Amino acid sequence: MTAITNHMPTAELQALDAAHHIHPFSNNAELAKKGARVITRAKGVYLTDSEGETILDGMAGLWCVNIGYGRDELAEAAARQMKELPYYNTFFQTTHVPVIALAAKIAELAPGNLNHTFFAAGGSEANDTNLRMVRTYWAAKGKPTKSIVISRINAYHGSSVGSASLGGMVHMHEQGGMPIPDIHHINQPNWWAEGGDMTPEEFGLARAHELEEAILDLGEDRVAAFIAEPIQGAGGVIVPPATYWPEIQRICDKYEILLIADEVICGFGRTGNWFGSETLGIRPDIMTIAKGLSSGYQPIGGSVVTDEFAAVMDEVEFNHGYTYSGHPVAAAVALENLRIMEEEGIVDQVRDVTGPYLAEKWHTLGDHPMVGDTQIVGMMASLALTPDKNSRAKFASAPGTVGYMCRDRCFANNLIMRHVGDRMVISPPLVLSIDEIDVLISRVRTALDETYAQVKDAGLFKPAS
Ligand SMILES: *Cc1c(COP(=O)(O)O)cnc(C)c1O
Repeated sequence: MTAITNHMPTAELQALDAAHHIHPFSNNAELAKKGARVITRAKGVYLTDSEGETILDGMAGLWCVNIGYGRDELAEAAARQMKELPYYNTFFQTTHVPVIALAAKIAELAPGNLNHTFFAAGGSEANDTNLRMVRTYWAAKGKPTKSIVISRINAYHGSSVGSASLGGMVHMHEQGGMPIPDIHHINQPNWWAEGGDMTPEEFGLARAHELEEAILDLGEDRVAAFIAEPIQGAGGVIVPPATYWPEIQRICDKYEILLIADEVICGFGRTGNWFGSETLGIRPDIMTIAKGLSSGYQPIGGSVVTDEFAAVMDEVEFNHGYTYSGHPVAAAVALENLRIMEEEGIVDQVRDVTGPYLAEKWHTLGDHPMVGDTQIVGMMASLALTPDKNSRAKFASAPGTVGYMCRDRCFANNLIMRHVGDRMVISPPLVLSIDEIDVLISRVRTALDETYAQVKDAGLFKPAS
C-alpha cells in the first residue's frame, strides 16, 4: 500500500485551512496566524505531518484510536460493507446484519445484564438519547415528575445542547444558553484541587454525599438519573478517591436513581478492563459508549441499557432516532475493531503488561520539581503541575498558562500531550509497546524540563496567594 504523500506545500494547506475551515474548540483567528499543523498520515502510535515529522500520539487522536493507526483490516471491513450495503436505516421495521452482530457483540462484552444498545453517531448524540430515554422511562413507569438529571461540575458529556448541558464545563455553558432546565450539577471528586485538609478518603465520601443532599433537596420524586464518567477524562483525568464510587452506588440504589456511566473514554480497554465500570466497581443502568468502540475509524456511539430498563422502554414507541443510528459501515468497522481487540488480547495486555509498566514510569515523573500529583489507571493518566507540591498550590498565573506552555514544549518535542488547565493528560493508543512507553516518558520529561526552565525564566514559578 502506498501512502498519500502528494499534497500542496504546507503553507498553502494552512492558508486554505484558515480561509475555509472552522476548527472546533479553537480561537480560529489566533490559529490562522500560527497555522495549524497538517497531519497527513499515521501508523501504529505515530502521526506524520506535512513536513515529514513523526509525532508520538499520546492522546490516541481524541481518546479514541485504541487499536492504533493503520489497521488495514478496518479499512477492508469498511470497503466490504460499502459494496454490500453502504447505508440502510432501522427505523421502519427493517434491520441489517452489521447492526445485529454489533449489538450482540456489545451485549457479550458489557458487564451484568447490559444487553441492549440504542445506536448514535457519537457520544454527544448518545447522551442526548440518554436524557430523553431516562425521562421517557420514568414516565412509562407512571412517574413523569422524575425528570431531573444530576451531573457534576467539570464533567464532559459532549458538545450538543443536551449533552453539554449534562456536562459541567462552565466555559461551554457560557455560550449558547446552557444548561437547559432540569439538569443539576454537584461538585467533582477532584481531591488534588479541591480536597483542602481532608484525606482523599474523607473527601471522596463528602463529594459522594453531595449527591444524596441534592436528591433530598430536589425531591426523590423529581430526580431521574445521575450521570458520570467513571474517571473524568476531558476534565483532566481525575481518578476519584476509592471511597467515592461505592458511596455513589449506594445512594443511587437507595433512592432508585438511574445510574448512567459515561464510558465514552473509559470503555473498550482504556482502564485495563473492557469497561471503566468494571474497574471502578460500578453497576450502571445505562452506559454511554463511543470513541474506542470503533477506535475512531468510523463515527459511532450508543447507549447500552439493562434488561430491566429495556423491558420498560420496549412498551413505548420512543419518538427518537438518528439517520445514522446503527450505520452499517460504522457498525462493520466497530465489529472488526472489537474482533481484533479480542483476538490480540489488547485489553489483557493493558491490564497485565503495558499498563503496569506505564504506571511505574509515570509515577517516576512525580520527582520532577514541577509535578505534584501523578495519576494513572490503565492507559489514561495525568500530572498536576504545581509550584509547591507539599501544599498542592496552584500557580499565581491565570489557570492553564503553565499547562499551555508545557503542551507547547511537548508539541515541539514531537509528543502529543494535552493540558487541561495546569494538568497534563495522556490517553495513548492501547497498543503502545514497552519501547514506545520509554519514548513517551523520555519526551514527557524533556518537555517538563524545558517548561520548568521557561516558567522560572518568566518568573511564573510561584504559588497563588
Ligand atoms: C468525547 C466524549 C463525549 C462526546 O462524544 P462525541 O463523539 O464527541 O460526541 C461524551 N462523553 C465523554 C466522556 C467523552 O469523552
